[in-house]
Amino acid sequence: MYRTITGKKAIKAREMTKEQRKDAFCQCLAKAFSSEEAMQPLDYLEKNWNEEEYIGGGFSAYFPPGVLTCNKTIGWRRCNPTGRVFLAGAESATQGYGSLEGAVWAGKRAAEQVVAVISQGADDGHPEKIEN
Ligand SMILES: Cc1cc2nc3c(=O)[nH]c(=O)nc-3n(C[C@H](O)[C@H](O)[C@H](O)COP(=O)(O)OP(=O)(O)OC[C@H]3O[C@@H](n4cnc5c(N)ncnc54)[C@H](O)[C@@H]3O)c2cc1C
Repeated sequence: MYRTITGKKAIKAREMTKEQRKDAFCQCLAKAFSSEEAMQPLDYLEKNWNEEEYIGGGFSAYFPPGVLTCNKTIGWRRCNPTGRVFLAGAESATQGYGSLEGAVWAGKRAAEQVVAVISQGADDGHPEKIEN
């Protein structure tokens, strides 16, 4: 069983001891599955990704309301090519956003966009031919 703690709850969890977090986590599971068995896990591992210098936090970028749906900002640009610039990556995915699944999905989409532009011989934003 794998879970992430985010936002305000993560800040609260950071101030707890490992035992307290484990207990709180197991209580959630026990409640969700209506079983006290969850209070006796075989093992318990945890990781605070904020402590990692080169990672600095858990996954997914945070976009406030309106960013993804606005067709004039990143919302549109994140999944449409701009000239010869093609964007991929988990944060540009419209399926599986912010996850490994999204990264693969967006990579495939970007590759298909590149193939489409090459097949046409020119890209949408620029009329000149693409040189091979
Ligand atoms: C702590 C943590 C836990 C996660 N847990 C899960 C999970 O359980 N399940 C899940 O599905 N997803 C999880 N994710 C999310 C998942 O790892 C990412 O969504 C996915 O790896 C993003 O893939 P990507 O190809 O979009 O970007 P990345 O994997 O970030 O790849 C981008 C690459 O570009 C390189 N790069 C950056 N700038 C430049 C530059 N200027 N020039 C050349 N290269 C550059 C980087 O070095 C990097 O290799 C987690 C992420 C984190 C941080």
